[in-house]
Amino acid sequence: MRLLSQIFQPIIIIPKGAKIKNTEITCKSQKLLLECGLIRPTSAGFFTILPLARRAITKLEDLIHKCLKDVNAQRISLPCLTSSRLWERSGRLEDVGSELFQVEDRHDKRYLLAPTHEEAVADLMADVGPISYKQLPLLIYQITNKYRDELRPKHGLLRSREFQMMDLYGFHTDQKCAENTYNNVNNVYKKLFKILNLPVYRVVAPSGDMGGTLSHEWQLPATAGEDSIAICPSCSHTSLTSGKCSECGKETDVCGSVEVGHTFILGTKYSEPLQAKCITQASNPTPLIMSCYGIGITRLLAASIEALSTDSCIRWPAAIAPFSTIVIGPKEGSKEWSLHGIQATQGVARCIGDVVGDVLLDDRHTLTIGKRMMMADRMGYPNIIVCGRNSIENPPKYELYANNAKTPLLLDMNELMQFLRNDSSNNVVECAN
Ligand SMILES: [Zn+2]
Repeated sequence: MRLLSQIFQPIIIIPKGAKIKNTEITCKSQKLLLECGLIRPTSAGFFTILPLARRAITKLEDLIHKCLKDVNAQRISLPCLTSSRLWERSGRLEDVGSELFQVEDRHDKRYLLAPTHEEAVADLMADVGPISYKQLPLLIYQITNKYRDELRPKHGLLRSREFQMMDLYGFHTDQKCAENTYNNVNNVYKKLFKILNLPVYRVVAPSGDMGGTLSHEWQLPATAGEDSIAICPSCSHTSLTSGKCSECGKETDVCGSVEVGHTFILGTKYSEPLQAKCITQASNPTPLIMSCYGIGITRLLAASIEALSTDSCIRWPAAIAPFSTIVIGPKEGSKEWSLHGIQATQGVARCIGDVVGDVLLDDRHTLTIGKRMMMADRMGYPNIIVCGRNSIENPPKYELYANNAKTPLLLDMNELMQFLRNDSSNNVVECAN
């Protein structure tokens, strides 16, 4: 059980149209994350992630780790700095050089703060290889901070210059193996977004700077998004280009969207220049077929807030809210307080904590229940439990505002525990299999 009075959450009130330290507020998620004390800008496009947002991100990471177990992906950590020479060899230094943060060491050796790691993993495979076909397909991934020197960082975590990303790399003997793995990982993406309850669309995408043979973007509709997708109202076919639906010929609806993930079959674009090879039964060492998969973690967090929240209240995917449940006790000095004061409220929070694992007690008892409920609603905690007027009944009853409901359920302790047990097991069961 955590006490809200002890949470480091520097809430700020921003006058309309004001500029905050190098950051213009341009969208809802940025405004809510800043004002609710979840992130803090340091310089243009860079943010400190504060404790409550950090908790949400950790939950998202855990969920991704669990989902990736389905495809036997193994976790590694590559250095944030990649030798610029590797990017020279792949040809990308020339292509996207202006977007890279580059540094030199004391021996004048050049490195870049990697925005992605195709070169680095291909070099790893070249270094240990040639790898046997018996080990393939091989899937390795990491969750680390990535860097891109955006010309115009904006929208807070939606387009920042440092961002957290899950990047997964697949190595295959041939195209067929790559396609199988590609489909399996795409199913992992679908499952993840289903658990998060987000309407993320998979659309065919051009491969761009990454090169390769097949790619999809994973787009979440949100008005602040810099991309747009066209959805056919008739057959639900989704694409990046507006106009007539390619499947049924009907006129499509276009909406703003945020790219939260990208998947590619890369072919040999990186393995060939970097000499990453495998040994097959039939032939001499041949270049590995590569696939790669990304999920922008900090961007997905911001995009889901963008898509789900109102102008004044944060709404999270329930599975990643910083705390699933908040308990609000009576106001100091009230009749309830004298009968159901701090001890009893802490007892309630402790019991609930045993069931849901992550409970927050709003121990600011000098504030009215109404004021604290308003703040809990603004923060978007999925379950708000109030020990109010009915907590002095026999047996005590508690108000439960479940999943941001406007009207409460009035439950005794057993009923409350039963409800929360079902509620939290829903999440756990779905992501464990
Ligand atoms: Zn259609």
